[in-house]
Amino acid sequence: MIDVSRWVRPAIAKLTPYSSARDEFAGDADVYLDANESPFGDYNRYPDPMQKLLKEQLAVQRGVSENQIVVGNGSDEIIDLIFRTFCEPRTDVVAAISPSYGMYAVTAAIHDVKLIELPLNTEFDIDESTLDLIQSEDRIKAVFMCSPNNPTGNLLSSKWMERILNTNLLVVIDEAYIDFANENSWISRLDEFENLIVLQTLSKAWGLANARVGLAFTSPVIADWMNRVKPPYNVSGLNQEAAIHALQNPTQQRERVARIKSEKTRVEQSLAALGSVVKIYPSQANFILVEFNNAQEIFKHLMAEKVIVRDRSSLVKNTLRITIGSQEENTRLIETLQKLES
Ligand code: PMP
Repeated sequence: MIDVSRWVRPAIAKLTPYSSARDEFAGDADVYLDANESPFGDYNRYPDPMQKLLKEQLAVQRGVSENQIVVGNGSDEIIDLIFRTFCEPRTDVVAAISPSYGMYAVTAAIHDVKLIELPLNTEFDIDESTLDLIQSEDRIKAVFMCSPNNPTGNLLSSKWMERILNTNLLVVIDEAYIDFANENSWISRLDEFENLIVLQTLSKAWGLANARVGLAFTSPVIADWMNRVKPPYNVSGLNQEAAIHALQNPTQQRERVARIKSEKTRVEQSLAALGSVVKIYPSQANFILVEFNNAQEIFKHLMAEKVIVRDRSSLVKNTLRITIGSQEENTRLIETLQKLES
């Protein structure tokens, strides 16, 4: 047994969390005069702070208990919550694979927490040297990994992720793109690792980027600490409803994921035929990382033609990260690139 509570920041360990009168009243009351809301309008009441209905549904779908779930205003808020709950500014250190999603480093900087980069190998994977690096630093509190990784698109080796989990540090596995991958979520192994936080989001495969719903699946102890720290009404009622609605239709989600994957194959094939494309990295996500012989020029040209992709050359030399969009959007991208070469 790991004593997770010893990781909690001292200020959080002694925190009395915000509470409302409704926490103490189970069920529907007749009159609510406790929260200084307006009695008028359609959106006048605060949403459920613990997102009970959404968690009930998620618990059944993902095979976890409701007390293992944290719901955030996007998974960006959950990344922030992890720092606020566990990482003492100017004292604790975190480690994150590199190149990866930018918000681990940005959030660490915001909290004045030092971040050690764990460079990925030439296959963009972790290996023994990742573990060595983690073990050579004794102040590391948390390790951030992302699988499938953004912007490289590949899954990380589960063998080395497991070895890192066995170091008994707090381990965050960001699975924002897991629904597009042909490997299972680490959620199924939460019972083995009390130090694991699996991050997911409804922004990608579930089509709800605008609703800002991020999810953490973890041990009940970690979830409890994070839920004490989160702002009480962090996910609006409208967004909770949108999430419940989307999750009620997993068939539609699966169909959409299948369409995006088949479009990904089409885009990859079309790009491979272009003279300016040097390499298309294999992707388990809804985007591809593409090396061009002149990435910056292509980026600017696409932008001038009102087609926006992401220049990732600062992370991986000469690359653009291209999201797989609708059939029409993808065709527009392909034709714009073809015209440039003709
Ligand atoms: N993690 C990764 C790896 C991402 O790529 C993103 C979105 N770009 C996020 C987290 C944040 O997602 P959201 O806040 O929309 O849930």
